[in-house]
Amino acid sequence: MTVQTPRPSPQRYYIWTIGCQMNKADSERLESALVQLGMSATDGPNDADVIVLNSCVVRQAAEDKVVGMLTSLKPLKGRRPDRIVALMGCMVGPKTNGLQSRFPYVDVFMRPQEYRPLLQLLGERMGVDAEGCLSTLAPPRPGVAAFVPIIHGCDKFCTFCIIPYRRGREVSRPLADIVREAELLAGRGVREVTLLGQNVDSYGHDLPGAPDLADLLASVHAVDGLTRVRFLTSHPNDMSQRIIEAVADLPKVCEHFNLPFQAGDDGVLQVMRRGYTQDDYRRLVERIRRQVPGVSLSTDIIVGFPGETEAAFGQTLDLVRETEFDKVHVAAYSTRPGTIASRKLEDDVPWEEKKRRLAEVEALQEGILTRINARLVGQTTEVLVEGREKGKWKGRNRNDKLVFFGDPGDLLGQTVQVRVEKTSPWSLQGTVHV
Ligand code: SF4
Repeated sequence: MTVQTPRPSPQRYYIWTIGCQMNKADSERLESALVQLGMSATDGPNDADVIVLNSCVVRQAAEDKVVGMLTSLKPLKGRRPDRIVALMGCMVGPKTNGLQSRFPYVDVFMRPQEYRPLLQLLGERMGVDAEGCLSTLAPPRPGVAAFVPIIHGCDKFCTFCIIPYRRGREVSRPLADIVREAELLAGRGVREVTLLGQNVDSYGHDLPGAPDLADLLASVHAVDGLTRVRFLTSHPNDMSQRIIEAVADLPKVCEHFNLPFQAGDDGVLQVMRRGYTQDDYRRLVERIRRQVPGVSLSTDIIVGFPGETEAAFGQTLDLVRETEFDKVHVAAYSTRPGTIASRKLEDDVPWEEKKRRLAEVEALQEGILTRINARLVGQTTEVLVEGREKGKWKGRNRNDKLVFFGDPGDLLGQTVQVRVEKTSPWSLQGTVHV
């Protein structure tokens, strides 16, 4: 008779995350469940009983990093077969057969926000019902600022984007659940929450009574202890008058909109299936700036999309130049298998040309930020202090600009007024103004 040695109960976890804020929020929520199961974090995968890779496939470079990381885990798993390896996030589609044959040493595959398969496996190993952890997934040790996912998935199907196929259709969380989570976070010391979604301004259309983001902003605004509320990312077509008014009227809601325009040329926008024209976008920006004084804007751009001529790219540069965004995230187009663009469009802009266009947008934006930030010298700006870096306090102002300043006091979590003395394209520096 052979006696089987019982497998040790998993004690330590390591979560590796790549990609957008939604992925970071998903990892924090999984971590919350693991901590509630009595587990503790390790600094790296070597000492972990459970290793989770939270993946991103929006760009090839991100996917390559995930594959590299997965490959490096194979010998670790070989040395300790009882170790659990889990792959989570956008690399995991509805069918996992292909991934299972490529990475047979991975124990669990989980789509975004699908924590259950890992928790069930952990429950079996620990001899407990791990499902109970799913009710409260707010981070156990949040910082001063925290993310709160409010809507998952996306219904838009832009031709270049894999998100709707991986994260699924839009599903909003009930308003009361979000408010309860915001209250819990405020009780744990959080002062700023960012309401997150791939398409945050379409929040609520699928809920009974169809509350919208404006309703949610008002409800979260009422939570005691919070001093700031933000939201990220908005689609220009879903940005309603009610939401703009809510930002203008609710003092805790920061004056910042992230509104990706992706391309300046109407022909390219149409092929991307973005659903608006350059003119629609300009009018929306004008309306927001008129109704929300002091507002800042950030955007996302793709250069080198199939069919983007030099003249079409020039329209993108014009829009960047005229709008004077406070932040621009620019990416060179790369084909993602599974998207409409990968099936129907020829990736016809050479890689060198894409890199040149990307560098041109970045150089233009750096000049704009140098100029617009320099205008802030001598002004006072409200900063929520989030931590320390290189001997200075660090936080963001209401416009989401990074601010550094020196002060001997313990200011973590406090809101202070900082007089701006020096600026760069990427941050402001100053001293506390009493
Ligand atoms: S709006 Fe478009 S780019 Fe954004 S997540 Fe949805 S499909 Fe992707």
